[in-house]
Amino acid sequence: MSQNTLNIYEPLSIGAIRAEFPILQTQVYGYPLVYLDNAASTQKPLAVLEALDDYYRTINANVHRGVHYLSQQATDAFEAARHRVASYIHAAHDHEIIFTRGTTDSINLVASVFGRACLRPGDEILISGMEHHSNIVPWQMACEYYGAKLRVIPFSDRGELDMDAFARLLTGRVKLLAVAYVSNSLGTVNPIREMIGMAHSAGAAVLIDAAQAVQHMPVDVQELDADFIAFSSHKLYGPTGIGVLYGKEAWLNRLPPYQGGGEMIKTVTFEKTTYNDLPFKFEAGTPDMAGAIGLRAAIDYVESIGIDRIQLAEEALMGYALDSLSTVPGFRLVGEAFHRSGAISFLLGDHHPFDVGELLDKQGIAVRTGHHCTQPVMDRLGIPGTVRASLAIYNTIDDIDRLVVGLQKAGRILG
Ligand code: PMP
Repeated sequence: MSQNTLNIYEPLSIGAIRAEFPILQTQVYGYPLVYLDNAASTQKPLAVLEALDDYYRTINANVHRGVHYLSQQATDAFEAARHRVASYIHAAHDHEIIFTRGTTDSINLVASVFGRACLRPGDEILISGMEHHSNIVPWQMACEYYGAKLRVIPFSDRGELDMDAFARLLTGRVKLLAVAYVSNSLGTVNPIREMIGMAHSAGAAVLIDAAQAVQHMPVDVQELDADFIAFSSHKLYGPTGIGVLYGKEAWLNRLPPYQGGGEMIKTVTFEKTTYNDLPFKFEAGTPDMAGAIGLRAAIDYVESIGIDRIQLAEEALMGYALDSLSTVPGFRLVGEAFHRSGAISFLLGDHHPFDVGELLDKQGIAVRTGHHCTQPVMDRLGIPGTVRASLAIYNTIDDIDRLVVGLQKAGRILG
């Protein structure tokens, strides 16, 4: 079994970590799987699989409704999961954690209700040029509906935000800044502490898309002073179908509800409905109880190893990968930001990313190809897309060596 670069996980071995993820034993076309598509979705450790199984076997019932034993057990476990999420991102209150379907759902929630409460004709929403479509389109829709304008912070050829342009764009008309902590297609870590401070000084609220951050680095919402933070469970080793919106209590109290239905109400008559308190005001309908409990198990797993150690190990592996990949003939890194995490985007000569990805797949290596839901990034760089290898806790030097050999072979085949 291969070693992790600096044995950062000691006394745990990387082999012991990999043994927690059964899917990593998969053979693909006769090769042991190398899974490097973690920015799209991570694999799940046994602790998460067992928590999901255990939930359905032992306490499954609807939450917040029944007086009966199982319902109370399920409610306690669901609320304990909320508490776990709050403590993971250092939220001041559990009720600042809203369970959603994922990052996309969280951003749509804010865009929808912030638009209704705060956007007027002539107002502006500021995003960056490297946002995922899910942090573009909901704002475009809100702007269109309320007569506001969408402004975009440009980025350099290296994939770093133009902070002078940001300062210029941050006028009194900007009501909200929505920006990714880490770019999913360039791997850039944006200077969000500084950006949040500047936005607040200009009177704008801030939403951070942390979909590519919470699995790679410690996130402290109070230290960052972000107004809203969105992320998905499935990229943090947890189940699909559940995600998180963190919102500052004052903002969540000020904003109207998103969807109407059960759970989010206090009283309903045909004449008038009164809304529930936080966090339930934003959680209409039966929530994803199993998902929340699975997410809790994922966070417990991550913390059992330590997000600081995961960050160090992934940084070391990233350094090794960048050095090794630069030896591959025709390798061209896309996105050369100084501060980076998670994703390595690249091209191989003039070959189409899809062809490269397919040849890697035939060697058992899973990467992502295309625009990675960041079409404006590709337009800005004048390329159709990239090949993207993205790292997680269980990736090894062996995985990177296999990728290098796989790319050399792909290059030879494509000529
Ligand atoms: N933002 C970023 C930066 C992402 O990487 C992703 C997922 N690729 C999303 C948003 C959307 O996440 P989800 O599909 O889980 O809602």
